[in-house]
Amino acid sequence: MAVKRTGGKDSISLASVKGDTARVLGEVTDALRARAEEHTESHLSPVNSLDAISPALDAGNVAVVNWCRQKECGDVIEERTNASILGTEVRSQYVSDTGGPCIVCGKQGKATLVGRAY
Ligand SMILES: [Zn+2]
Repeated sequence: MAVKRTGGKDSISLASVKGDTARVLGEVTDALRARAEEHTESHLSPVNSLDAISPALDAGNVAVVNWCRQKECGDVIEERTNASILGTEVRSQYVSDTGGPCIVCGKQGKATLVGRAY
């Protein structure tokens, strides 16, 4: 019986440890996300041609391009730059939110982040 009770105790404390771990991990994730956003903010590099993306990325920056949001153009951007489209929700004082012509097809596009995952 003693062994059984100990086992029960262990599983209870294990459960609470798991809860704490999830909470701590959540806090760490928030901190990492905030730091990543700060990093992104300070490394934004607006470019207006496909050829200019790779040099910007090579310099450790995140490129900001205008993209029309068509998959075909997104594929071209990603294939030409060996990078990923990170998103179009650019909220930064450094980036115009008015958009401009897509750097692939020239249609109206929106500011889009392009970067490499390390
Ligand atoms: Zn396009």
